[in-house]
Amino acid sequence: MKALRFHAARDLRVEDIAPPDRPGPGQVLVKVIQCGICGSDLHEYTHGPQLIPVAPHPFTQAKAPQILGHEFSARVEAVGEGVVRIKVGDRISAIPHLNVPGEYFARRNLGHVSSETALVGFSWAWGGMGEYAILPQDNCVRLPNSVDDAQGALVEPASVAMNAVDLAHLSAGSTVLVAGGGPIGSLAALCALASGASCVVLAEPNEFRRTFLADLHGIVPASGDIQELQDLARKLTDDGRGFDAAIECAGHERALANCIETVKPTGTVVQVGLFVDVPRVNAFKISEKMLRYQGSWGFPMTIGPRVVALIEAGKLPVERIVTGHVPLARAVTGGFDALIAPGNRNLKILIDVA
Ligand SMILES: [Zn+2]
Repeated sequence: MKALRFHAARDLRVEDIAPPDRPGPGQVLVKVIQCGICGSDLHEYTHGPQLIPVAPHPFTQAKAPQILGHEFSARVEAVGEGVVRIKVGDRISAIPHLNVPGEYFARRNLGHVSSETALVGFSWAWGGMGEYAILPQDNCVRLPNSVDDAQGALVEPASVAMNAVDLAHLSAGSTVLVAGGGPIGSLAALCALASGASCVVLAEPNEFRRTFLADLHGIVPASGDIQELQDLARKLTDDGRGFDAAIECAGHERALANCIETVKPTGTVVQVGLFVDVPRVNAFKISEKMLRYQGSWGFPMTIGPRVVALIEAGKLPVERIVTGHVPLARAVTGGFDALIAPGNRNLKILIDVA
């Protein structure tokens, strides 16, 4: 079968490799349909290996060369012994977290924060950028007919965004600042609306990204200039006191400062953007305003089915962030290289694997 494998930084190859054998007990064999290219895939490409193990992963034994891809839709081709919830022919979306059974955090539905957890597409023999993959049945969310293959490929990043929104503790009618209009920021804005926010200010310096969702009712694009954000906070929020919550999705010092500055006293700032550098933070403001500064990383396994249900209900148009498709054979130049090119005008590129 064809698969895109990471060998080293700047060395991704579409190769012919042996397809997986029959699924083991509790596992399914799937044929991948569409797979998204994620920021973390790009990070492996330019700076890896980071999440990809160079020595065998203690739980899965996986190591480079590694098939990438952890955001994908697929069709079930075979099921192993003891698989009861999923049948041959079902379409599924993959959930990448491979929890170590009985592990401390896994027992608490928090396997995503455990250092022992492996990830499909990083530290598992298979990934969504190969034609076939083996997955544990617990890592498959069944897709109803009304959720299409592209939407199915976006369940994973939408779950990352939904976890950040969950941690912002919104109520119906809340006002939210989302700082950063990349794929996760755009999905966080959609998730905030789906979670009942009345107004989401999407702050992003790049004009293309900023105005991408601007036609949606409830989304207010902003440039990220602090004066503009303060004016919007005064105008759009209850008594002009500031946003109920802010979600930092840029991993950028100024974006975080804007969140701390414009969220109302006692509000929440959720940190989902990943910082490469260590930012300077106005911690005095966090004290003075009695803010809650909440980290967000991955998502609990229980979020995937909620995201699928919201897509099915027409309340979470995740497909809005897709800006391009590329066949697997051209995924490196037409996908990875396109996304890291200066002046990139894509948000999410999906690889058509099947
Ligand atoms: Zn991802």
